[in-house]
Amino acid sequence: MTLYTPSEILIEQGEENAPVVQRALERLPEVPVHLVDKDWERQLSARDDVDRFATGKRRWLFTRQRSTFLEHCPAGTPGLVCCNYLVVSLISNCPMDCSYCFLQEYLANNPTLKIFTNVDDLLREVATVVDRQPWRQFRIGTGELSDSLALDPVLSFSTDLVPFFAARKNALLELKTKSDCVGGLLALEPKDRVVVSWSLTPPEITDTEEHGTASFSARLEAAQRVQAAGYKLGFHFDPLIEFPGWEAGYRDTVLQLFSAVDPSRVAWVSLGSLRLTPALRATMRRRFPHTRLLSGEQVPCADGKWRTFQALRVKMYRALTSWLKGVAPQVPLYMCMETAPVWEKVFGRAPTCDKEVARTLTAANLGNYGRGSDSS
Ligand code: SF4
Repeated sequence: MTLYTPSEILIEQGEENAPVVQRALERLPEVPVHLVDKDWERQLSARDDVDRFATGKRRWLFTRQRSTFLEHCPAGTPGLVCCNYLVVSLISNCPMDCSYCFLQEYLANNPTLKIFTNVDDLLREVATVVDRQPWRQFRIGTGELSDSLALDPVLSFSTDLVPFFAARKNALLELKTKSDCVGGLLALEPKDRVVVSWSLTPPEITDTEEHGTASFSARLEAAQRVQAAGYKLGFHFDPLIEFPGWEAGYRDTVLQLFSAVDPSRVAWVSLGSLRLTPALRATMRRRFPHTRLLSGEQVPCADGKWRTFQALRVKMYRALTSWLKGVAPQVPLYMCMETAPVWEKVFGRAPTCDKEVARTLTAANLGNYGRGSDSS
């Protein structure tokens, strides 16, 4: 298992005694620690970093989240089929460094990896929304602005989140990762309310484009361990990447995956195309000059992102769908950030409303708990 460590730890004044800070200091005794005031952003801006984004990944700042935690997933963009997913972020920035990661644009000038100390506020906020609407079913994930588990060996946020969601009948927590840092999950009791999910690419892409992540075989082994411990699993073939030999690569990946895990305990599998903005493409060219992801043909789409041209992405979606249905016919499949016409071409029909995908995914995993007049 990889242990991701910082080059320095910054603690905002007043947060020294937060439990997550104490855990990190105890587990990383050799890392230099500095106390900073609330004006830390200005202090750090004065430092002249050659690659501020890369440096920031290893400079951990413990601070408070001063706005709300719970947000709608940004994939809910007009014109795209939405799956009504909610996100909460206890960490902003990621210790890994995938060449295609949107954080390179979203957090371009961010000098730190932020860790929010006020976990209680997050839990209170989620409880207010989930418990006050028992007729609704929720899917909530932590993997939007960071990897959900890579820092868990140090921070142990899973010990706050898993019991909280295990105690709720109408909500699922998704922990999305490219790591194999699952040790902290094994002693917890998820009670079918926690889905641990992995983004997967064929090993030739994992090894060359997903820098600092766990290997494909390490991810599979980690998935087997959490499945044996009672967790549901999820998998995301997102981004789907075209490369010479992609068909054999993805087919083998699907076959290996479902020969390693029990499909009846897989909550969902998603598919998504590689999507890049012009600014992200420029950053990738600068930071990863040898990436092969910029050589494929992409076309601009209505949401401002560039995607693999439609005929090829439909071909890729159909191929993945047929291999997945061949080995795991009962597992719910959906697409992320795709239009209704593409859904029709791949699945034969598009969802009738923006609540349908959410209903399918929650009902398959929560049954009738909390089912009422509205499930999104
Ligand atoms: S694991 Fe996810 S968040 Fe982390 S660098 Fe890769 S794409 Fe970005």
